[in-house]
Amino acid sequence: MHIDRTEKYIELTSLPLTYDLEAVKNEALEGGIPIIRPSVCGLLRFLMGYVKPVKILEVGTAVGFSALLMHEYAPEAQITTIENYEPRLIKARENFSKYAGDDKPGITLLEGDAEKILPTLKSGEYDFIFLDSAKAQYITFLPELIRLLTPGGMLVSDNCLQDGDVIESRYAVRRRDRTIHDRMRMYLSEVASNPQLKSAILPMADGVTISYKAGE
Ligand code: SAM
Repeated sequence: MHIDRTEKYIELTSLPLTYDLEAVKNEALEGGIPIIRPSVCGLLRFLMGYVKPVKILEVGTAVGFSALLMHEYAPEAQITTIENYEPRLIKARENFSKYAGDDKPGITLLEGDAEKILPTLKSGEYDFIFLDSAKAQYITFLPELIRLLTPGGMLVSDNCLQDGDVIESRYAVRRRDRTIHDRMRMYLSEVASNPQLKSAILPMADGVTISYKAGE
């Protein structure tokens, strides 16, 4: 199956994005900023409506597209999103101020390295976490994310199949991609087998995992 054509088809078949989201998306794509694909937009839209999260944590803001999408479809939720790359932070601040409102902000942008910020956040605080940052760090972040999830809370992580590389032997992937390959395999294996999580690995977009924290 051709992923790009499938994503285009899904985009054309889905309900259109709001005018504002379409503007943020187009500007991001024109600037070569990596943002969630249309099928992941659909998944987040669906989960916002069905789960109705109250406190959302996102790791990997980029310029704010996915945070604004979650804000649009879960308008009552408080969203905290983390980004560490200054050029993207400049645009994310601008987009949040323009599209999420300065008067009653539903989105809090935490600026810095998630590795340092995550341990400062309160345990059991978030009922929905979206992980979309550097893939090699997913396995490092996982224990913190489990700690931060409320019992029954949901973790969604994007880009887990590395354009299919993850299913290949490490010797079949380029040498420079082997570390990330090993770390993503460790992440998938841990997500699938950690007794605190119930998970599914979905071969959609570039690979998505959905999990909930057991205990409720
Ligand atoms: N979620 C965004 C969207 O769909 O609109 C896209 C996020 S982009 C794929 C990943 C982002 O994570 C990049 O902007 C990158 O700078 C950021 N990132 C990577 N590692 C990070 C870290 N350790 N702490 C904070 N941000 C990080």
